[in-house]
Amino acid sequence: MADELTAEADRVLRICTACMYCDGLCAVFPAIAGKHDFAPNDLDYLANLCHNCRGCWYACQYAPPHPFAVNLPNALAELRQRSYADYAWPRWLRTGFAYNATVVAGIVGGLTALTVLATWLLVPAEVLFAAHRGEGAFYRVVPWPIMAGAAAAALLWAMVAIGISAATYWRAIAPRASAKTIMRAIYPALRDIVTLRNLGGGGPGCNDVNEHFSQQRRWSHHIMVAGFAASVASTLIAALYHHVFAIAAPYPLSSLPVLAGGIGGVMMLIGIGGLLRLERRADRAPSAAAEVRLNVVFLLLLAVLAASGLAVLALRDTAAMGLTLSLHLGLVIGCFAVLPVSKAVHGLYRSLALLRAAIDRMAPRRRRDGGE
Ligand code: SF4
Ligand code: SF4
Repeated sequence: MADELTAEADRVLRICTACMYCDGLCAVFPAIAGKHDFAPNDLDYLANLCHNCRGCWYACQYAPPHPFAVNLPNALAELRQRSYADYAWPRWLRTGFAYNATVVAGIVGGLTALTVLATWLLVPAEVLFAAHRGEGAFYRVVPWPIMAGAAAAALLWAMVAIGISAATYWRAIAPRASAKTIMRAIYPALRDIVTLRNLGGGGPGCNDVNEHFSQQRRWSHHIMVAGFAASVASTLIAALYHHVFAIAAPYPLSSLPVLAGGIGGVMMLIGIGGLLRLERRADRAPSAAAEVRLNVVFLLLLAVLAASGLAVLALRDTAAMGLTLSLHLGLVIGCFAVLPVSKAVHGLYRSLALLRAAIDRMAPRRRRDGGE
């Protein structure tokens, strides 16, 4: 199966390099210009450079029923899924991608149930089911060192696993370039990452659902990521309040951590809703079934996480706070634990592919300048 995927991507890309009609749609086409064969690491690079905007499917004059049967978004999406498993560290995480929905549901569900059960068993009922108010209310139910320690351990595991996977991927796709050139490429790469330029179809937008151009996916993604960033900022500001100003949560509704967390949670749900709606309506032909499943599982996971955080905010002054807090904590721990086998990995892989594309774009200048 793996050889079939490689052979199909190689076949389609050879047709594209001869045609180049889609040059200008995204970074993939400049990256293949002038190439006539593609090594496995080149294919892994191109697979993650593709944002699956589907523009080249609707524009393609050689798509089925033409005998060439070119379907570049599908060929790259299939390879992209395989690359997540191929570079995964530790190796046994590969299975997590093959049975993603089951593994994610099992781990997140198991850790959440364990956290709620432990809270239920270890916290006296008169504390767990009481309404707590004022500074330190959360920590009367779950002590701060346990809450922070469990979440930090799960996050550390995710960062190490994803970091090593991404480093292995970068070693496979990295071009020969000096540290100076790489540093110079960081700004244009960051611009492409932050603006999602490759979901713009070269200007008019992408084919999110069908042959019509749209910016919906790009904007939904922006809203979701901005919401996530606001939620992370909320946690960091809260940590600052706790450690520097010695003020324990929960904080007033008008405080920075609560405003950032509340707005972030709502924005995440809006963005996720937009992306799930597009997944449901989109033409399946230019996508890969495994990628659609991975996307939906990850989006649902983030939605449950955001909703549980908002539930803690809404119920924090009531007797339901204790159980809601332990449920949210379990989901946070579970979500961090499964990040290395989730769609979250695409963020680093795609960013590294965009960095390589930015370095390659500097190649003519490097030659002109007499550089490496
Ligand atoms: S996707 Fe089709 S039209 Fe576009 S470059 Fe490839 S072969 Fe040409
Ligand atoms: S699907 Fe979009 S991002 Fe991917 S190769 Fe085609 S035009 Fe480029």
